[in-house]
Amino acid sequence: MTQQTIGKNPSFVLQSPGKVSYEDRPIPELSSPYDVLVKPKWTGICGSDVHYWVHGRIGPFVVESPMVLGHESSGIVVAVGEKVKSLRVGDRVAMEPGVPCRRCVRCKEGKYNLCADMAFAATPPFDGTLAGYYSLPEDYCYVLPEKMNLEEGALIEPTAVAVHITRQAGIKPGDQVVVFGAGPVGLLCCAVAKAYGAKKVVTVDINEERLNFALKYAATHSFKSQKVSAEENGQKIVEECGLGLGADIIIDATGAEPCIQTAIHALRMGGTFVQGGMGKPDITFPIMAMCTKELNVKGSFRYGPGDYQTAVDLVAGGRISVKELVTGKVKFGDAEQAFAQVKDGKGIKLLIEGPDV
Ligand SMILES: [Zn+2]
Ligand SMILES: [Zn+2]
Repeated sequence: MTQQTIGKNPSFVLQSPGKVSYEDRPIPELSSPYDVLVKPKWTGICGSDVHYWVHGRIGPFVVESPMVLGHESSGIVVAVGEKVKSLRVGDRVAMEPGVPCRRCVRCKEGKYNLCADMAFAATPPFDGTLAGYYSLPEDYCYVLPEKMNLEEGALIEPTAVAVHITRQAGIKPGDQVVVFGAGPVGLLCCAVAKAYGAKKVVTVDINEERLNFALKYAATHSFKSQKVSAEENGQKIVEECGLGLGADIIIDATGAEPCIQTAIHALRMGGTFVQGGMGKPDITFPIMAMCTKELNVKGSFRYGPGDYQTAVDLVAGGRISVKELVTGKVKFGDAEQAFAQVKDGKGIKLLIEGPDV
């Protein structure tokens, strides 16, 4: 694909399950004087993008008409609305990809990620960020400090997911934390937990390579899940990692039934479980253990007030590092191949560059 053939606002569009194409879409108008227009420069591919590509739906969200993919982006501001005060043309920003209604009860109580009228990039019917231009409100753009590059800026989205999960978990210094899943979000949960002062951070996965990476990256201990009952696996984690009475906090970043069951058994009395990963909608859950241990069980969905800024600050301050998570980069014209690679579970985080408009 050459620059001449891709048009003014080339966009990577999911037409129907398994079918993507490039379209030249109109450059978005600024719909409010508080909006800015951004040229996305780097976009990470997320499991959810791939899921829409393959299945055309995630739970209740169904792709019914063509939709631009991508939501983990950083870019450069190219136009600002007349009321915009905090941004200028040329600013490099991380783009928070979901804008809530700002008026409903959930928004006003400070939980805008639970807004029923959320417009989220690449969640039907809303277009994503894999395009030449994307418009969003100024307060959903986070200026990157000079020492952060735009590639790190694209990693702010999954980092904000991890910040929100750890916020839900209420991690305190000295906690023993177990994280199931050593994919991007699980790894970032390990890194954030460590930055928040967790004494032990145990990574759990079935893939040895991923465990080794997690140990080098942020975890203090690793555990390879075994094909035994959830109760036995839970006991083994506690014994082999020296967790004493059990883990204080367990985060599931897999959505896999055996992981969730094992987590409940590996927690101490009164411990906290946070579900971050998305898998089957229904599973068998050890509810007796949850009840008799008085566990706190919580969900976690996207990110809310402060999470994006915290993610930028953690990276800018060197308290967590995201560079090593980037295992591949492709040009915009090769986006489909990149999606195929992510589908096959290759690498940790793949970034798409451009388009160059
Ligand atoms: Zn994502
Ligand atoms: Zn709302």
